[in-house]
Amino acid sequence: MKKALFLDRDGVINVDHGYVCRPEDFEFTEGILEWIRAMQERGWLPIVVTNQSGIGRGYYSEEEFEELSGWMLERMRGAGIGIDRSQLFFCPHAPEEGCACRKPAPGMFLAARDRFGLDMNASLMVGDKASDIEAAKAAGVGRAIRVEKDRPLASEALQKLIGKG
Ligand SMILES: [Mg+2]
Ligand SMILES: [Zn+2]
Repeated sequence: MKKALFLDRDGVINVDHGYVCRPEDFEFTEGILEWIRAMQERGWLPIVVTNQSGIGRGYYSEEEFEELSGWMLERMRGAGIGIDRSQLFFCPHAPEEGCACRKPAPGMFLAARDRFGLDMNASLMVGDKASDIEAAKAAGVGRAIRVEKDRPLASEALQKLIGKG
């Protein structure tokens, strides 16, 4: 069974400028691409789990989100990370819709588990909000690290992991 490196998007993979929906506003956080690649080399399968209520709120469309995601995944592959669209899960709903996928609900994690046959207990979540950690715990993810928004690699817990993998 595979172990996943679950990654929040806004605030972890990219700087959270608020409802980012275009490549020109998408800024990878410092060192994140290199770190994901290093983790993958140690056997972690990268999986993105992202709340995108901007769709449900009507700030941008699902098509725009898919377009940006395609661009982001291409950039990640360009940095040597093995990742495709199947490794990205998103919740398009607004909070008041009460869906089962918006973090802190565990829906996206469970969908990823079923798609890839993941060992959840051996998996790791990296997020910048309490809801990221809560969702991971609810899904049975063994370890969840809350990092500093926009500066994930500055987190001490993450630095320790880099040493050990
Ligand atoms: Mg976030
Ligand atoms: Zn949802």
